[in-house]
Amino acid sequence: MTTLIDAYAKCGRIDNARNVFDEMPCRDITTWNVLLSGSVLCGHPHLALHLFRQLCGFSSSVSPNETPDSSTVIAAIAACSQLGTIANGEEVHSFARASQLDSQIIVKNALIDMYSKCGSVDMAMKVFRSMSKPDMTLISYNTILHALSMHGRGADALKMFEKMPRHIEPDSITYLAVLCGCNHAGLVDDGLRVFNSMRVTPSMKHYGTLVNMLCRAGRLNEAYDVINTMPSEPDMVIWHTLLGASQTYGDVPLAEVAAKKVAELGSNMDGDYVLLSNIYASNSRWHDVDHVRTRMQCNDVIKIPGFSYIEINGTMHMFIKGDRSHPIWKEISNALHIISVRIRALGYVPEVQNVLHDIGEEEKQHELYLHSEKLAIAFGLISTDPGVELRVIKNLRICGDCHAVAKLVSKAYNRVIVVRDRARFHRFEEIITISPNSSTLVKQFNHVTIRSYSSPNVYIFIILKHVPSTSILWSGGEHESFRRYPSPNVYIFIILKHVPRSSA
Ligand SMILES: [Zn+2]
Repeated sequence: MTTLIDAYAKCGRIDNARNVFDEMPCRDITTWNVLLSGSVLCGHPHLALHLFRQLCGFSSSVSPNETPDSSTVIAAIAACSQLGTIANGEEVHSFARASQLDSQIIVKNALIDMYSKCGSVDMAMKVFRSMSKPDMTLISYNTILHALSMHGRGADALKMFEKMPRHIEPDSITYLAVLCGCNHAGLVDDGLRVFNSMRVTPSMKHYGTLVNMLCRAGRLNEAYDVINTMPSEPDMVIWHTLLGASQTYGDVPLAEVAAKKVAELGSNMDGDYVLLSNIYASNSRWHDVDHVRTRMQCNDVIKIPGFSYIEINGTMHMFIKGDRSHPIWKEISNALHIISVRIRALGYVPEVQNVLHDIGEEEKQHELYLHSEKLAIAFGLISTDPGVELRVIKNLRICGDCHAVAKLVSKAYNRVIVVRDRARFHRFEEIITISPNSSTLVKQFNHVTIRSYSSPNVYIFIILKHVPSTSILWSGGEHESFRRYPSPNVYIFIILKHVPRSSA
């Protein structure tokens, strides 16, 4: 019976697997594990978590030979990784801790990966640090290196890589993680050094990362050299990278070379056509722009809709680009308007070059506003309390404009925003925090005016005279978030959460 469940799950027929499971007169933990991991495999993480809770909720129907083991916990952790919701992950982690299954290295590795995928690289690091050195395996290192890289902490990844114990030999995954970290963090020369020191044969992915890194740094000729000297034929991704960079740096001849290769390799993605079209448009080659558009129509170009998720109080809300169907669309639309006013005050200019259509500037700006991640962020802002971190998951890569907006929203609203896109995590933390509580601040500044607003958690200080020692305040502080308006003689600090000394 267990074999049958396994077979059904592996064919993607989870309903059949479930039916067999439900009809079994008695089950053991292996049966549960097969259905649990099968649910994860078939992309039904909710079902996996439901089963896990049923099993671990110590319901009376569960017999002693159904005691959860490390495979159970690992399957449940994988379900949390798929969902990307940290609350579920913490629930499974506490179960693992209580049942002492978390002492197993394989469980710890899974936890590191899960926390990273749920957006908390700090928790991933905490689990990693809790491992004893001799227990750590190559997988442990690969997982944490990948986590650091994905979260843009390339320098930390590099440091950790350099401190890897001698008896653990890096493999191609290790190198790829470190190279990606260098790439995202812009550590080009370090990345080149790592690439040249590789003790395994570089694969297409390693070359791809190297090319991407050089392209992002504007070192297009070096990137092109790498492409030309690669031992195997570069793939579409690599040419696509060069195409994108050629657009960014306005290198028309290189863009044409790359676009030709991309077309030869059979790209049918609208993004490639958009890139080439934009390059022509920025050089006023309208005839070529038309040509690209005709080719798009002839070739039935696939357009994948962008969508984003945001989790609010344990519920996932999905937003599709341009979608106005959300029950509270009116509020979201208002929020988008307010956001635009606030970020424009911080210098935001819409990046309309990301829009292909032949429409007016104003419509282009409007179209940008309706990108799914912006809808999710706006919804998040109005659905959570001030200071709550927003986590957004996006199916495609975040565009340049949404990246700029998220950064400014973080600054304007004093929020940490994490966007997980197809490639990596983007963490926006444009907030300023300082350590002393309100009374310390009053002592330090003679000319301080305190306005306490009606809400007990919001204090606003307006400092009318610049105090040279301001800089000493810009560190630490967990509960107080400050924003500074740097006019020469006026500083405004807004404490969003005042925590009385006694409770600290
Ligand atoms: Zn966007």
